[in-house]
Amino acid sequence: MKWRGRKTSSRIEDRRGSSGRGVKGGFVGIVIAGILWLVFDVNPMTALETGNRISSSLPGSNTASPAEADRNSTFAGVVLADTEAVWSQVFAQSGSTYREPSMVLYRGQVRSACGSASSAMGPFYCPGDEKIYLDLGFFAEMSSSLGISEDQGSASGDNRGQAGDFAQAYVIAHEVGHHIQHLTGVSSQVQQARGRLSEAEGNQLSVKLELQADCFAGVWANLNQERVNFLEQGDVDEAISAASQIGDDTLQKRSQGTVVPDSFTHGSSRQRVEWFTRGFDTGDTGACDTFA
Ligand SMILES: [Zn+2]
Repeated sequence: MKWRGRKTSSRIEDRRGSSGRGVKGGFVGIVIAGILWLVFDVNPMTALETGNRISSSLPGSNTASPAEADRNSTFAGVVLADTEAVWSQVFAQSGSTYREPSMVLYRGQVRSACGSASSAMGPFYCPGDEKIYLDLGFFAEMSSSLGISEDQGSASGDNRGQAGDFAQAYVIAHEVGHHIQHLTGVSSQVQQARGRLSEAEGNQLSVKLELQADCFAGVWANLNQERVNFLEQGDVDEAISAASQIGDDTLQKRSQGTVVPDSFTHGSSRQRVEWFTRGFDTGDTGACDTFA
């Protein structure tokens, strides 16, 4: 995927902080916080913050080198800007205005309008503040689970992207897809309907919501290709591989925080591939009616 030198979004909120604690540090922080809370009866939030201060000074807390962290945040900014360009165009065509989401980059834990979250939950979208929350450590985890070396394809230093880039872009585009659903009111309709349904029926609706976000990611990829010709050989296979591997089964280890985990009921691998492909082949949101 070609992305270097393109505009980056101004709507990136970098909350990675100066402590630079990694996923591991965050986890150690929670453990320390738990001990502080249980043994000393410290306020849980204070305990968490203290725990993180302690754990961030432990060796092995930093996961990404500064250069790598920089590359990842620039990359996320370019992909977000690409989604802004495409969705503004789509909304304008139907006579409405696209309200852009923000993206919060964080490490360890983060507080959102939807509650507290940890990086173990993976990327998510919070409709309450219209922000996408992304721990960039997730990308490294994804590359290794997809069997992609972060170094592949980056040696020449030209405009060629790294292997795995497009799979990462797909993850961001999927979260932006949830923002589109929030803007169009689909997600609140599903939320309301869930209250009247059994858990199993409600989960089926959630799957439809997730598959639609996959389809929207495909639509975005199609329209962005038309706009900036950013795809390289193998990119779509990469996304399809991501769609089939980053599913409920792979991401089930997410914690039970106060934010509803986004991985819950994403549908089967086969369904995810099918809907992404449908969006990509047509470039038309009309093809994404997973509820029909
Ligand atoms: Zn989702």
